[in-house]
Amino acid sequence: MATSSTPSINSAVCPSADISVAPRRSLFPATASFSPRRLDLRPLSSSLPLGRFKAPAPISARSRSRTSACASAVTEDATKRADSRVSTVVDVDLGSRSYPIYIGSGLLDEPDLLQRHVHGKSVLVVTNTTIAPLYLDKVVKALTHGNEKVTVESVILPDGEKYKNMETLMKVFDKAIESRMDRRCTFVALGGGVIGDMCGFAAASFLRGVNFIQIPTTLMAQVDSSVGGKTGVNHPLGKNLIGAFYQPQCVLIDTDTLNTLPERELASGIAEVVKYGLIRDADFFEWQETNMQSLLARDPSALVYAIKRSCENKAEVVSLDEKESGMRATLNLGHTFGHAIETAFGYGQWLHGEAVAAGMVMAVDMSHRLGWIDDTIVKRVFCILQKGKLPTQPPEMMTVEKFKSVMAVDKKVADGLLRLILLKGPLGSCVFTGDYDQRALDETLRAFSKN
Ligand code: NAD
Repeated sequence: MATSSTPSINSAVCPSADISVAPRRSLFPATASFSPRRLDLRPLSSSLPLGRFKAPAPISARSRSRTSACASAVTEDATKRADSRVSTVVDVDLGSRSYPIYIGSGLLDEPDLLQRHVHGKSVLVVTNTTIAPLYLDKVVKALTHGNEKVTVESVILPDGEKYKNMETLMKVFDKAIESRMDRRCTFVALGGGVIGDMCGFAAASFLRGVNFIQIPTTLMAQVDSSVGGKTGVNHPLGKNLIGAFYQPQCVLIDTDTLNTLPERELASGIAEVVKYGLIRDADFFEWQETNMQSLLARDPSALVYAIKRSCENKAEVVSLDEKESGMRATLNLGHTFGHAIETAFGYGQWLHGEAVAAGMVMAVDMSHRLGWIDDTIVKRVFCILQKGKLPTQPPEMMTVEKFKSVMAVDKKVADGLLRLILLKGPLGSCVFTGDYDQRALDETLRAFSKN
């Protein structure tokens, strides 16, 4: 089952005709505190080219658009001006720490949208050597346009997962201290998940916490990492082992930034999109099965829809379980296996989403060995990841021992027991549990490892 050291796509033919549709059911009924608040002020049908993608599956009643004003302190006129180009706003409902996620094309050209969330006079933009030449000027303009009082500094970090560590984090603190940033300053993360996680952790700890804005520029960051407040850095012994929960003031997703994203990075983000369908949104999974080509072709409408639906799912889970006491862990489907791949292989060899894709296949395989899902789901998962140009098995160098040694320090180990997210029941249902037959895990590890 093993592959070479670069991600390869298994060449098995995707079954299509014999796939039966799994019943739709959400493990966690949408209740409680989540209240999606979207301003469909610029309807997708009129504002974005409809292109090649099929009409979205109907959104369930709980998430149907509801027009309301944004929560931030801002004059009504400014709100109207700023929102005129916003396709969608999804709220993360966390009481006093609630915040909006703005999703749409051209949002970096809307200074008011960003400025309303900057409270003090100084801003530190944290970005990297790849993104700075592409978007830093634009963001500085958006922050300063018509707003002479604000001073914007920037720190440009080296690019890559291997720099997501304490040493690189110190560069952010160095710049903030040299620039005399005070408690009312705002840190802005401009980049993918690596920058977002590091900038968020820096904001959480600098002067014991300063304002923080996320401007995610990869699909991975737009559908997942920028939402929910998980921040941190890696330790040589494990991914994301040092960090904090720290929510941003807002997340601003300008989908135009995806135009410069390399194909492999786009596919990496698609792994997390697939994840939402598998763990809790069967309708969304079916939509992806029909529209994967449009996503890969960067059809703007398809991208906005996939980002919106992903953010709605993530916002709902986060609003019900912010600090991961249970339900939020389900967002980690495939991640325990995936983190083992990333750690054992060396950070940055495989992209995060690639490792997660192979990890999801392993989690699904184990769920099937336990008799918890039927084989149509196994085939559909395999097939959609292939369509998404993602790997469906771990790299060749992974052994059972390597998996086990890294998984032993996973954050989901409790009292020596490794808890996993596994699928159980119809498509869209999962469990987070340590109550499984260990032999199934061993068999999965053996089936996907070289020895
Ligand atoms: P990344 O941040 O390394 O970005 C991928 C690459 O794309 C980088 O080289 C980056 O410079 C480049 N890039 C970014 N935006 C670009 C653009 N618009 N155009 C051209 N190039 C661009 O990787 P990622 O996949 O965004 O994020 C992965 C990280 O996110 C991992 O560290 C993972 O642990 C973390 N993560 C965190 C959470 C969370 O909840 N906090 C969730 C998922 C993933």
